[in-house]
Amino acid sequence: MRRMPRFEYHAPASAGETASLLSEYGDAARLIAGGTDLLISMKQRLSTPEHLISLSSVTGLDAVDYDEKTGLRMGAAVTLASLTQSPPIKDKYPALEAAARKVGSVQVRNIATLGGNLCLDTRCWYYNQSDYWRQSRPPCHKTGGEVCHVVEGSKRCFAVYSGDTAPILMAMGAEVKLMSGGGERVISLGELFTGDGLRPNAVEPHEFLSEISVPPPAAGSGVAYVKLRLREEVDFPIMGVAARVTMSDGAFGSAPQGFKVVLNAVGSAPVEVEGAGEMLAGKAPEQAALEEVAQVARASVHPQANTAGTPEYRRMMVPVLVKHALTEAAAAASS
Ligand SMILES: Cc1cc2nc3c(=O)[nH]c(=O)nc-3n(C[C@H](O)[C@H](O)[C@H](O)COP(=O)(O)OP(=O)(O)OC[C@H]3O[C@@H](n4cnc5c(N)ncnc54)[C@H](O)[C@@H]3O)c2cc1C
Ligand code: SF4
Repeated sequence: MRRMPRFEYHAPASAGETASLLSEYGDAARLIAGGTDLLISMKQRLSTPEHLISLSSVTGLDAVDYDEKTGLRMGAAVTLASLTQSPPIKDKYPALEAAARKVGSVQVRNIATLGGNLCLDTRCWYYNQSDYWRQSRPPCHKTGGEVCHVVEGSKRCFAVYSGDTAPILMAMGAEVKLMSGGGERVISLGELFTGDGLRPNAVEPHEFLSEISVPPPAAGSGVAYVKLRLREEVDFPIMGVAARVTMSDGAFGSAPQGFKVVLNAVGSAPVEVEGAGEMLAGKAPEQAALEEVAQVARASVHPQANTAGTPEYRRMMVPVLVKHALTEAAAAASS
């Protein structure tokens, strides 16, 4: 049995108290929400914070509200299980409900939070291992060393971001609110991700993610997330694709901004396929239009040999999943 490193536990009751604890302890503290990822990292000595600041007692951080004009607002500490049971999400954002259901297992979703899923650390075969296992090799960039065991000679880390709710929320145009003692800032969800395997998100040590907001669903739009994984329960994605499309009279709508295709688990951040809107707008939902986007998506990613599935297999599956996601999104828009 692996023991936890020693730490001091704090359970603030308000956002203000959380912010003060973060400024007091700085880099020596880590936020903990459900702990389904962080506690494993701590047992593996990938993270050894002296202070853990829990978000589970912070008032209002588990709320879900929907308004016809402003859309959906979700507190960062809402569990994925309650998200899948929330009436406005089931009714207005069924693709988000479906994506949340694809995270881990029932047991994981019962305590894992949306904020923790978005702030999930990047993963790699050579990183997510016990300290004993890792001692067989020199430390890599992500553990404070100067090598990468995946890409020889590389000066950067290629660890993979694989949170399953980020791509669908990006496709739907979500924004996130970051709070600190100095106030709050709102950024698009895409801006939360740095693309750096070492430090995958833009949350500063004195900040925490407090809220995720999504605009109301546009008329005629449809969204879908498809996920490829080894087993239908529990597993992280080998890769995933989220798509949002707009349909009008049985064809793709003519405004390019109604479309988004976002790829998951193929790099250190979710990857938005450039130009998907221009390629699809105004066209019939036929194989040729889908194939064009699918091939551009394939060319835009370079997976490495550091998670399940070989790089060649994952790259080969990109166009397959892109067409699948676009077809599902088009069907959802037309229903
Ligand atoms: C068996 C198993 C299977 C899994 N399968 C999947 C899967 O299929 N798909 C998937 O996406 N994930 C999977 N996970 C990973 C993880 O369970 C989920 O991503 C989960 O949503 C993480 O949320 P959490 O609340 O437990 O995060 P925690 O472990 O509490 O935190 C994760 C990270 O986020 C930071 N953090 C948490 N909340 C905030 C916040 N509000 N502001 C700033 N930083 C914050 C923490 O400091 C930590 O660095 C799996 C985990 C396990 C154990
Ligand atoms: S991609 Fe390279 S640097 Fe990053 S965790 Fe893996 S081995 Fe380490």
